[in-house]
Amino acid sequence: MPTEGEFINISNMNFDVTDGQATLLERVDKACKEIRPIEDECYTRDLVNDQTIPILARAHLLGLLVPKRYGDGQGVDPVTYALAAERIGQEGLGPAAFFSVHTALCQMTLVRWGTEEQKARFLPPATRGDSILAFGLTEPNAGSDPASLTTSFEEKDGKFILSGQKTWISLGSTAKSVLIFAYPRGKKEGMCTFLVDSKSPGFKAERIKEKLGLRTSDTSTLYLDQVEVSREDLLGPRGKGLSVALSGLMEGRLGVAAGCVGVTHDCFNESLRCAGLRSENGKLVGENQSVQRHIGLVSTNLEAAKLLTLRAAFVKQRYLEHGDDKEQRDDVDLAITKAKYFASNASLDAADRGTQIFNAAGRSLGNRCARHFADARVSVIFEGANEILEQKIALGSLGKTFEAYS
Ligand SMILES: Cc1cc2nc3c(=O)[nH]c(=O)nc-3n(C[C@H](O)[C@H](O)[C@H](O)COP(=O)(O)OP(=O)(O)OC[C@H]3O[C@@H](n4cnc5c(N)ncnc54)[C@H](O)[C@@H]3O)c2cc1C
Repeated sequence: MPTEGEFINISNMNFDVTDGQATLLERVDKACKEIRPIEDECYTRDLVNDQTIPILARAHLLGLLVPKRYGDGQGVDPVTYALAAERIGQEGLGPAAFFSVHTALCQMTLVRWGTEEQKARFLPPATRGDSILAFGLTEPNAGSDPASLTTSFEEKDGKFILSGQKTWISLGSTAKSVLIFAYPRGKKEGMCTFLVDSKSPGFKAERIKEKLGLRTSDTSTLYLDQVEVSREDLLGPRGKGLSVALSGLMEGRLGVAAGCVGVTHDCFNESLRCAGLRSENGKLVGENQSVQRHIGLVSTNLEAAKLLTLRAAFVKQRYLEHGDDKEQRDDVDLAITKAKYFASNASLDAADRGTQIFNAAGRSLGNRCARHFADARVSVIFEGANEILEQKIALGSLGKTFEAYS
């Protein structure tokens, strides 16, 4: 197992923001300023923010990673993408989760596994925000272990007929097309991935209400009752559904990691604001050593999370430029897993400390740290629960022979 060498050599990482990145980040910043007041209102009123999509679409941000030949694809590199996702994360995990699911988890799964015909059909509208994508893997009894899913398909008259249930699916009620993972009926191998049109007869989406956290984001349960899918909408080779799912999750994890850096950044800014503004008995909150301890820890974690995330993006960039084997792909996977694991934990910790600095005021939904606190609880669960990622990271050092279950 390589631990150094050209591919993962980080000595020549350079994260100085280029002119091109600065221009893009200005556009992202402008869009984020438009999103903020709407997000504030939606959060307190427990409404899904349906303006994030058109705002990001108008700013040409919904196809950042997609090659330029598809619609509004911008073809940026992973480091630039991570910087943009981080800025969006400052608006909250709701917008960050939307951005990551649509532009990384789903679009990049299509880029990697789609046929040329599928890419030409699905990517242009997705990059323009005319068609939103969702990733339907989790089921009521299949989360951390996607291989245990029970959604199934059979083949009839040259079509696939899908039945089953998916739950906790981001954008499930918003999406026009959903990637659905299913086994051949009666089997526990040969998983396939399908691009399912949400308008198909037998497909129903139901929004999950009264969630703790991610209140502005659509999370839904999907019901598939004999849904017909044509042969052209099988994504990736037959029987390779699990590989499709795992590669998608790797893409999504980088988006989540970057979004969490943004959340941590916002908690840090809010904590500083409270520390420097509020005073009690002539003493500023930030003059208390206990508060300084919170700020010192969050400041350090913010930098560490950002560096791990940019490093992961850099390693991925290297892979896209030069990589061609499975071992190198595993290095990318491990770097991204570490970034998601650390950045999500850091965001939860920063939100916790931020609410403690605000104290009573940090119990209100109008308080940004309080909102991040509820949201960040989700970031340590989705795109791989952190307990699972911890094991994955350990096995990256110990080797797969140490796997307890396979
Ligand atoms: C807001 C939100 C949005 C989501 N969006 C999507 C989406 O767009 N698409 C999608 O497919 N899914 C989505 N999910 C689902 C998410 O990916 C799953 O919740 C996650 O994979 C964990 O699965 P689970 O909830 O079934 O927990 P389980 O897997 O049942 O885990 C329960 C507990 O057991 C632990 N555990 C399980 N297995 C092991 C193990 N082998 N070793 C150690 N500990 C273990 C877990 O860490 C956890 O503490 C979303 C979830 C949320 C909350």
